[in-house]
Amino acid sequence: MSILIQNVQHEGEAVDVFIDGNIISSIVPVERDLPPSSQLWRTGRARSEHARRSCSTLIDGTEMAILPTFHNAHHHAAMAYMRSYADDLELFEWLNEHVWPLEAGITEEDVYHGARLACLEMIKSGTTFFNDMYWYFHGTARAVEEMGMRAALGAVFIDMNDSGKRAANREQAEQLLEERSRYSDRIQFQLGPHALYTVSREALEWCAEFAAEHGLMIHTHLSETQKEVQDCLTLHGLRPPAYLDSLGLLAPNVTAAHCVHLEQAEMELLAERGVKALHCPTSNMKLCSGKFRFTDAQNAGMQIAIGTDGAASNNNLCMIEEVKIAALLEKHFTGDPTALPAETAWHAATRAAAGMFGLNSGLIQEGALADLMLVNLNNERLVPGHNLIADMVYSADSACVDTVICDGNILMQNRHVPGEEEIIAKGRAFKKKFC
Ligand SMILES: [Zn+2]
Repeated sequence: MSILIQNVQHEGEAVDVFIDGNIISSIVPVERDLPPSSQLWRTGRARSEHARRSCSTLIDGTEMAILPTFHNAHHHAAMAYMRSYADDLELFEWLNEHVWPLEAGITEEDVYHGARLACLEMIKSGTTFFNDMYWYFHGTARAVEEMGMRAALGAVFIDMNDSGKRAANREQAEQLLEERSRYSDRIQFQLGPHALYTVSREALEWCAEFAAEHGLMIHTHLSETQKEVQDCLTLHGLRPPAYLDSLGLLAPNVTAAHCVHLEQAEMELLAERGVKALHCPTSNMKLCSGKFRFTDAQNAGMQIAIGTDGAASNNNLCMIEEVKIAALLEKHFTGDPTALPAETAWHAATRAAAGMFGLNSGLIQEGALADLMLVNLNNERLVPGHNLIADMVYSADSACVDTVICDGNILMQNRHVPGEEEIIAKGRAFKKKFC
């Protein structure tokens, strides 16, 4: 499939964007102001004409701007079925008395429908990739495959120091490693040891070795609450980063959600080891987990991306909202209005996150993956249009996103996602099942 997006705004100028397969193959300025005799006009015109003749789909980009899509760096997609099920609770009460009991009764089919609902919401708000951790790998993988998105999906580890569960977790990871070939390369397989308080030392060590052996990423939660830090000190005599380091689990292939309760030296250690921090400001605020120190972490050299966390603790999956909250929280917390500027928040949610997963996306340039969105410049939230990135971070909402393309395929156009009515209907059925 090839797509020509004509006359769309890119970094302040009108361009034609040609997508060949899953790659942005050319970006040609629409040289309205140049005389037809000029070489630049002739070259641009020739490339656009060639693209027009060879493309199979034409999109009129007039009064729209092209932007990279969001990459949601920490997520539990299927938890969309738990949206607004249990709110206004302390983290461990929320997990122990509400989330985990409900999860005990779910099936792979529930995960599939929950993940489809999450994918729909993410596509509608301009996200094409998410880094996930949840049970029933195949349920989420099928949803991602069908919805046309990209995701890093894991084999979850929660053994609670039980050797039987540990063996089952390991067996499952080995089996899923074989079965990942059922899916396209839009789905990356990784390991998901939930957290150091739910996964035994033996299992964490095994994850580090297995991931290194097979070239896999590891997705975990780290230093989310003060209780986690205290319990780790009591049980292991070490704070969480030092404990994970002693197990070989601080490495460049590790993405760590939250990273709230870190001392300066711990930020430097994580930066040195190449661990990626996944900042989830809404979830941290809602559960009162604490505040990730973005500026300090950045100054320590940490790589940082932004995620929504699951719908059970957010309760939406809109990255447009998440980047705004990240920026505002940092300013409010530091008392410095120059902290976490719009460009930095935007970068963390797009290019920085994509790079962590080896994706040549999160940017609009020739040769990059065709993962992109078109935003409607006539939407009142983007007018008058002094600075598009500032508008997207501070002003926009999902209604500004008109079209979403991932891997060279159109996932949404004119704000419609094929099949969305059925996904919503299936999502409504969760209320009857669980309440
Ligand atoms: Zn999480």
